[in-house]
Amino acid sequence: MGVDGGEEEQMQESTECHERIFVSVRLRPLSEKEIVRHDVSDWECINDNTIIYRSKLSVSERSMYPTTYTFDNVFGSDCPNRQVYETGAKEVVLSVVSGINSSVFAYGQTSSGKTYTMTGITEYAMADIYDYIQRHKEREFILKFSAIEIYNESVRDLLSADSSPLRLLDDPERGIVVEKLTEETLRDWNHFKDLLSVCEAQRQIGETSLNEASSRSHQILRVTIESSAREFLGNDKSSMLAATVSFVDLAGSERASQSLSAGARLKEGCHINRSLLTLGTVIRKLSKGRNGHIPFRDSKLTRILQSSLGGNARTAIICTMSPARSHVEQSRNTLLFASCAK
Ligand code: ADP
Ligand code: MG
Repeated sequence: MGVDGGEEEQMQESTECHERIFVSVRLRPLSEKEIVRHDVSDWECINDNTIIYRSKLSVSERSMYPTTYTFDNVFGSDCPNRQVYETGAKEVVLSVVSGINSSVFAYGQTSSGKTYTMTGITEYAMADIYDYIQRHKEREFILKFSAIEIYNESVRDLLSADSSPLRLLDDPERGIVVEKLTEETLRDWNHFKDLLSVCEAQRQIGETSLNEASSRSHQILRVTIESSAREFLGNDKSSMLAATVSFVDLAGSERASQSLSAGARLKEGCHINRSLLTLGTVIRKLSKGRNGHIPFRDSKLTRILQSSLGGNARTAIICTMSPARSHVEQSRNTLLFASCAK
């Protein structure tokens, strides 16, 4: 657990899961809007691992809320995307070239910086993967790209103009597959950038017809990397490698909020996001150890990501938060999620 106290237990737990799930918190700067309405920043990153709540808590609040939180990494409001990638995601991402599945998530309330963060991370990651390929001419690499959006438990292909929902199939050999999903073989970096623009356009088409869609939907960009030795070295098992890296821009975490009043929850109705809730449960269980039942099957998001989360897969979660006082409740929820993921 990242929240104060129980230091010994905290050490043991983090060594156990250290290599599999990395949790970072990123604070964004106050936005123009927040500055104009005289909102103030309540949070400060005091070192590479610790974020503190620096405003005064009332006596009753003091017993309810921690003021110090520790994680694998915390990034202050002036930290650029490159550093967030290098420190918080690079190692996890690059395990994909050795045949280990990996995933990077951005988790946080709407407008906290998820898309800003994931866009940066995805580009730096792909640049690094291409760089790795350049430096390993002894192997031949094939990169395949696909992109989906999950909205209200319905899956859509972001590389296709056809927006009808796609089915998930349980393939005995490949695990869960999205039926009829477009998978493009990447020719080069420019091709990758072109496909990102296609996804962006598809996502926006959705947004004009569905109010506020990006706060309710999850976007998953996936790159599968297959490689084989150019020369047969007498050991064909180790010469073939294949793995997938998934970049996940999650729905706004306010959609999973347990803290909504009963009335508000009723009004929000189906907007409470099943995939986001299930992801929280799955990650909590995985971080406690991989034994016992893990409810991957309970949502589309966790079914699709099962092989990128379970087994020996590696995961980086970047939790983004606004520093503003007006968002303190959601920020605490985000920190609680981050603490439980450790
Ligand atoms: P979300 O995807 O969580 O809804 P966005 O990524 O769209 O949030 O960020 C909301 C706004 O804040 C955007 O205008 C974005 O450019 C800006 N922003 C987010 N994070 C940062 C950051 N670390 N530094 C500077 N601007 C940021
Ligand atoms: Mg966004």
